[in-house]
Amino acid sequence: MRRTGHKSALEDGTQQAFSIIHRPGKAVEVRVIYRSGEPPWIGTFHDAKQLFEAVADANSMPEIARIQWSLNTPRSDWKIRNVLERGKSALCKVDISRRDWVFVDFDRAPGFSAMDECDVAHVLRYLAEFGIPEPLLISSGRGLNSLWRAGWSIEAEPDFHALCRALAHKFDDEYITVDDASSPERGTKIPGTMARKTDDPAAWKPVYILNPDVATPVVPQSAWQAVIDALRADGHVKELTRLSNGFGAPVAEDFDIYDFCEAYDIEILAEHGDRFDIVCPLKGERHNGSVSVTSLFHDGDRLGFKCLHPDHESMSIGKLVSELQAEHGRYEAPLFAERESDIDVEDVSDDFMKEEKPWTE
Ligand SMILES: [Zn+2]
Repeated sequence: MRRTGHKSALEDGTQQAFSIIHRPGKAVEVRVIYRSGEPPWIGTFHDAKQLFEAVADANSMPEIARIQWSLNTPRSDWKIRNVLERGKSALCKVDISRRDWVFVDFDRAPGFSAMDECDVAHVLRYLAEFGIPEPLLISSGRGLNSLWRAGWSIEAEPDFHALCRALAHKFDDEYITVDDASSPERGTKIPGTMARKTDDPAAWKPVYILNPDVATPVVPQSAWQAVIDALRADGHVKELTRLSNGFGAPVAEDFDIYDFCEAYDIEILAEHGDRFDIVCPLKGERHNGSVSVTSLFHDGDRLGFKCLHPDHESMSIGKLVSELQAEHGRYEAPLFAERESDIDVEDVSDDFMKEEKPWTE
């Protein structure tokens, strides 16, 4: 990592955002992600000055697509590195002990201008009916990160994945989508850095806070639960259907599909009950046609994979995970359920996978 030039206005933006979002001395994970898909650099900092320097160094490198930081507080035994290193494991949901912010991520399709407050005003008006105030809004490039202050232990909190899925079901249209794939545990792009999604420098955009002076009171869990209850009553929380017996592989009790997708950079395009349409993570030709060509299936107990691309038709979840781990490193969070002895992902495909209709209607 190299250092270029003097402290910039962008760096001021990072320091301002830090003072709003993080407590001094709190452990904050930073992840640096390349457009090329090579493994990210990851570090956890409790020293703010070292964090700012690492972020500024990373941001000076044009090949970097985005720089993120965690929003929530990791377990006290999480390893503090105070330096960015390649090939390190990242925080997962199970590593979080305290939720500092509730995070909803808005995005829009390529070809539209960057979003601003007006684009999400109708969503925020709906939330305001439940006493939820204006969030801290971060322009994340084309999209918007919205943050509401929390500050509670994550046990027994409302289901924020259900919230994001339900808001997506209610509000997604051709102009905005609520990202149901983002892991709220992994965090946001860092204000004061650049979002460089494509190779075209003309399309790169600064990440910045739109409303740094907004008040950010703690929003009680009860207000969020009321939103989720209302969305469920209106049919926006899709209940899970059942996977047919024999399809996919049993997963560990704490398996989190959003975390799994985030860890392997698998983009979730749409959710239909227990079917998650994704961008196929396997190498080879890009798949044309319908978005439902490639899917993960997850009903809470089992995980399955189906890709209709002719080269991938025989790919089981066990083989897929083997390929992902070979290419991107081991998935550290809970994944497959243990059988009587140590289970290997290679075994899973043979013993659990059957070519059956993957789900029941
Ligand atoms: Zn495929």
